[in-house]
Amino acid sequence: MKNKVYLIDVTNRDGVQTSRILLPKLSKTMLNLYLDEMGVFQSEIGFPTLKHEVNYINANLDLVKIGVIKRMRLEGWCRAIPEDVKLTFKNCPDIKHINISISTSEIMIKGKFLGKKTFKDIVRSLSEAVKTAKELGAETVGVNAEDASRTDLERLIEFILVGKEAGADRFRYCDTLGTDDSISIYERIKTLALSTKFPIEMHCHNDLGMAEAVSVAGAQGAIEGGVDSYINTTVNGYGERCGNCDLVSTILALRFSHALKEKVPLDEKVDLKKSWKIGRYASYAFNIPIPINQPGVGANAFAHESGIHADGALKDRRNYELYDPEDVGRGKPELHETGRIITTGEYGGIKGFRHVYDKLGIHFHDDNEARRVLELVQYANLHTQKPLTDDELRFIATYPDITKKILTTNP
Ligand SMILES: [Zn+2]
Repeated sequence: MKNKVYLIDVTNRDGVQTSRILLPKLSKTMLNLYLDEMGVFQSEIGFPTLKHEVNYINANLDLVKIGVIKRMRLEGWCRAIPEDVKLTFKNCPDIKHINISISTSEIMIKGKFLGKKTFKDIVRSLSEAVKTAKELGAETVGVNAEDASRTDLERLIEFILVGKEAGADRFRYCDTLGTDDSISIYERIKTLALSTKFPIEMHCHNDLGMAEAVSVAGAQGAIEGGVDSYINTTVNGYGERCGNCDLVSTILALRFSHALKEKVPLDEKVDLKKSWKIGRYASYAFNIPIPINQPGVGANAFAHESGIHADGALKDRRNYELYDPEDVGRGKPELHETGRIITTGEYGGIKGFRHVYDKLGIHFHDDNEARRVLELVQYANLHTQKPLTDDELRFIATYPDITKKILTTNP
């Protein structure tokens, strides 16, 4: 079988850990549902060792069990130390996929562990952590080399082989500081793939504005080195500092760049048409506007005004457009209420609530059922602090018990 690129979205981990931006647990759940619909292979859903994430993670694992999340794997992130792995499985016994992370570069080993750890200690900890995860029931374990881009290749090869020997399933190459360039990362990843025959995840940051370019170049190196590759993305590129590799841009690059579409085949289950929906929802939920020039989902992605461009686009759109609005799920008119509107939320009562749900085509058996869902809607709105979307309202009414779990955080 030909090697391919699969997408692992890390919005719910890297995106939410970012300074000054955050997501409510209900929004993280909605993103998981949309990512699954979009054909993303795996979602890094958060931190199973962090107390306030536990109910949300377990509730999302329930969504997998009852078949609401259909294909996508849910994976938790923790440090590559046995204690973290044990706590992960104690908090979330049903979790099947984890990625464990530890620094590998000399600069970080010296600068972070301050002489208390050597590279030998790092690989020992990695090996123990992988074995612990497998013993506790992990189906897949990804081993993350933090700051891989500033780590010698020989060290990375040793790290990978130790992980592989302990039972890991994939290696994550973290360009943690976004320092790699396309040509050197391609060569480094190809060397790692050829020397270890181990699948490689690309995790690249955007500090030099090249996150997508280096991610796809690394993926090409992996494919040419004879292994599958996995690109870590985030919706709208949200992530530490200048962000991560943007989900929609990455799919566009792999589908429409004339050289890449042959050389770097993308998992065919990925549905680009869901881009508009997920990009807009993430923008709303994070409360960050989408830049006007954002690939695919920005307001100007299909706008033409200057004389030569407008004339050319009117004669044949292919003169100035690489892909169509419909390719990314745009083009349909959207209705916005400009007159009277009834909403429901934090302080809503039963009449307004039933009116809103009637319009969504959701009817309750009796007042008791309606009042129970109303209470959840009140709490959900308290939790998100912005008007609930139609999909959020539908989710709450359809899965009230799971919603209750998601909303429960006890300090
Ligand atoms: Zn990161």
